[in-house]
Amino acid sequence: MHCPFCGAADTKVIDSRLVAEGAQVRRRRECLTCIERFTSYETAELLLPGLVKRDGNREPFNEDKLRAGMSRALEKRPVSVEQLEEALSRIIHRLRAMGEREVSSRMLGEEVMRELKQLDEVAYIRFASVYRHFKDLNEFREEIERLKTEERNH
Ligand SMILES: [Zn+2]
Repeated sequence: MHCPFCGAADTKVIDSRLVAEGAQVRRRRECLTCIERFTSYETAELLLPGLVKRDGNREPFNEDKLRAGMSRALEKRPVSVEQLEEALSRIIHRLRAMGEREVSSRMLGEEVMRELKQLDEVAYIRFASVYRHFKDLNEFREEIERLKTEERNH
């Protein structure tokens, strides 16, 4: 870590301690060049990619928003909170594993649909109808038919 005072590359850690319940390391450092001391906070961050929306706008990934969207689709469906949370974890894990700085909101939507499809068909259809912007009822019916066919073939 470069010294914030003189920019020298060599700094020495003189003290380390865990803070924020172990999520962060606070380090006292001393610059070997100008002998100034400073503190750094380091967090192991597994960054989630930002989202690029349909209209090209960007927004940060928001877990709460994703959870809310999925909960809405699952309303009054026989799916437990634990199942929802597990699905959410799998989606987030996959996003992180991609290691991309940005992903399209469409791709995130596909991931959500993939999970909802496993959890509950009605929730899947609800979500898909919002996400894919079904133009009319026919398109919606086609999707349901497609699902039924898929099921028969399994
Ligand atoms: Zn320095």
